[in-house]
Amino acid sequence: MKITPIGIWGGYPKANSATSSFLIEHDNFHCLIDCGSGVLSSLQNYLPLEKIDAVVVSHYHADHIADVGSLQFSRIINFYLGHQAPPLPIYGHTKDQENFTKLSYQDQTVGIGISEDDVIQIGPFKVSFCRTVHPVYCLAMKFKVGGQSIVLTADTEWRDELIDFARGADLLISEANLYEEHVGKAPGHMGGSEAGRMAKLAGVKQLVLTHLPLHGNIEEILDAAVVVYDGPTELAEVGKVYEV
Ligand SMILES: [Zn+2]
Repeated sequence: MKITPIGIWGGYPKANSATSSFLIEHDNFHCLIDCGSGVLSSLQNYLPLEKIDAVVVSHYHADHIADVGSLQFSRIINFYLGHQAPPLPIYGHTKDQENFTKLSYQDQTVGIGISEDDVIQIGPFKVSFCRTVHPVYCLAMKFKVGGQSIVLTADTEWRDELIDFARGADLLISEANLYEEHVGKAPGHMGGSEAGRMAKLAGVKQLVLTHLPLHGNIEEILDAAVVVYDGPTELAEVGKVYEV
């Protein structure tokens, strides 16, 4: 599997960038994970939009779905230009029916419901989910091919269950939205030290931090993680390819 950060920011994107999103690929299958603000623009540096085979959204906050509408428009414009394509599956949870319904658009995209108990096949990936702790219902994800696994925490504050969920992963992509002085004070997010603790307790082989804050010096978030976890750790870098 290879996975490429498309955006790294939480809340809204910095100029000429995108909110936290990843492109995971294997066997020529291309799956976009989250589709927030700026993602459609950034993604085109790495993949023509018509080559996306599936999208998975962790939850329905704007920084994870803002560009779904634009993605749907790209499909319909392609259709009017005479390019026939099967409906693009967009996987999202069904706890919020109003937002889930919006994943389906004409015959261009179709919403497919997921929940924390599911283990589903998306192209070559076996994908499972774990509920996180966030102001709205949100799902962490694990992508497996053969014996390899990549786990993404999505948006969450500390939750013990995520340790087991991430156990032994080849790569943990953790949110780290908080500076240490805000850890435990801002609902729904973690700091670098918590991401590091998760990586350590789960025994993962590598840690990448994402959903980073726009203010302050984000190197401090990396510093907080490496104090706790001594495996390879870095801030997600847009366009860098991570392979497991
Ligand atoms: Zn969120």
